[in-house]
Amino acid sequence: MGKRTTTFAIISIFAVSVYLCAVAVGRPAQQAAPFPPPKNEPPIVAPGNTSSDPPSDAMVLFDGKDLSKWRNANNKSDAKWMVKDGYVQVVPGTGDIATREEFGDCQLHIEWATPTEVKGEGQERGNSGVFFMERYEVQILDSYNNKTYYHGQAGAIYNQYAPLVNASRKPGEWQSYDIIFKAPKFDEQGKVTERARITVLHNGVLIQNNVEIYGNTWHDRAALYIAHGPKAPLRLQDHHNTMRFRNIWIRQL
Ligand code: MG
Repeated sequence: MGKRTTTFAIISIFAVSVYLCAVAVGRPAQQAAPFPPPKNEPPIVAPGNTSSDPPSDAMVLFDGKDLSKWRNANNKSDAKWMVKDGYVQVVPGTGDIATREEFGDCQLHIEWATPTEVKGEGQERGNSGVFFMERYEVQILDSYNNKTYYHGQAGAIYNQYAPLVNASRKPGEWQSYDIIFKAPKFDEQGKVTERARITVLHNGVLIQNNVEIYGNTWHDRAALYIAHGPKAPLRLQDHHNTMRFRNIWIRQL
């Protein structure tokens, strides 16, 4: 190899190296940074036989037999809803019920059915709701051929977000919600630093995709956060309709 050839080869290698470095620096977002592999093995969880059944690490809140995990939401006396044939039915006028246990971040499975006999229109038909931390409502409603405001139909984050689609089944048929809830965080002054987030599947269909909740889901006021602790009970609404519930389980995250 001649001297000129060697010099040319060295210059070429240097130029290519400079070019590759420039490409790497110019595209940092496309380069995977080296990171240590996870140290902990994911725990083993035995899943349920069907999507209705609780996984092995879930807390069963209602197994079709009794309401021992629940109380009246307002006066803390025993829950007065009626347990029958593996489900619990709202006894209108007895009030909301709430879990005795408190929860923050969680995954919830709940099945519900609106009355077979269709009565009323809009918000009067098959209304209930799942309130996370007693404040943030995922609406339950008979939204099968029943028009109402979109952020008030089944699967809405009440008064804030309409569901992405209406995946409702007919009145009287069992329906499911699978919900991932992330609790909000507050600073010492009570100002919200991280809003709550929620993902909802209705009958297996994604209807809320990790949306940020704006605050308490009131029906008569704009949403607003009022500081609270990291855990609070889960609440089911008595909206004067004979709604049914079954297979309620929760995983704390
Ligand atoms: Mg409601």
